[in-house]
Amino acid sequence: MSILVKGVTKLYGEQKALDDISFEVKTGEIVAFLGPNGAGKSTMMKIITGFIPASSGSVFVNGTETSADNIEIRKTIGYLPENNPLYPEMYVREYLGFVASVYKLGKETKRRVDNIIETTGLAPEQNKKIGALSKGFRQRVGLAQALIHDPGVLLLDEATAGLDPNQIVDIRNLIRDAGKEKTILLSTHIMQEVEAICSRIILIDKGKIVADEEKSNIYSKISRPYQVVNVEFDKGVTEQALLGIPNVVRVQMKGKDRWVVEAEGEADIRPAIFSFAVGNGLTVLSLQKEVSNLEEVFRQLTNG
Ligand code: ADP
Ligand code: MG
Repeated sequence: MSILVKGVTKLYGEQKALDDISFEVKTGEIVAFLGPNGAGKSTMMKIITGFIPASSGSVFVNGTETSADNIEIRKTIGYLPENNPLYPEMYVREYLGFVASVYKLGKETKRRVDNIIETTGLAPEQNKKIGALSKGFRQRVGLAQALIHDPGVLLLDEATAGLDPNQIVDIRNLIRDAGKEKTILLSTHIMQEVEAICSRIILIDKGKIVADEEKSNIYSKISRPYQVVNVEFDKGVTEQALLGIPNVVRVQMKGKDRWVVEAEGEADIRPAIFSFAVGNGLTVLSLQKEVSNLEEVFRQLTNG
């Protein structure tokens, strides 16, 4: 199951929410779809599912073009919308049965409902009203409705937004499990989530793609103006002395004998710090270069 987006533009009146977007998600990939609020993520997902039409361009799911009236394609897509709209007055089991009937699962319905209640951990809550559930369990219901027809493609729009850290881990594990056999495109603002479950990143800003890279490659898209190293010595050293190391431009004490050292230039500053220590009769207890993180990539590429 794959997703192919070709030259999609979406206009809301005068406003261009998506501007000639093209990308592909291949079978079995879990791809993070990132961007600041208003970048166009939700709009793109709604177009992929066929909920709203593109102004121009096209989307293919597993080779077939999507559209609002293509029921067969809709059956192969699971979608958890942003803010997860549910029916608070319905009971969990009743609601999932209702969703199953929309997909015309027929005789399969009971087996699928039982199965999805089990895999999403909803068993203890299945006879409660949706409105009475905690936010974490409501998200599980949202995932359950997205998965009930066993779609090959899963679109998750901020599935973990507003959850507490335990609930986030629970939902993330469910997503990771689903990802073993599905193609997933997910949007999130939690970079740890991207680190934990995604293999590729598509970053959009103001309706345009600004990066589409394997996760391990994404750092090549940004530049760091300087290097930052954390170092701990066994005894006291002065700021003045540290500033004497070639290329060091700024130092900051972070605790007893612990320093943050900033240096210019491409060459790794750590050997120079090490030589400095040896030359001054100090022992280096720890020495770590700060690595770029995804937040930094996000901010640099989207001008946040
Ligand atoms: P994201 O999900 O990345 O936050 P959205 O896709 O929700 O971004 O929105 C992209 C842009 O399109 C925003 O500027 C938003 O205000 C606008 N937009 C979204 N939906 C509508 C709509 N139904 N009518 C008009 N403008 C919309
Ligand atoms: Mg959104």
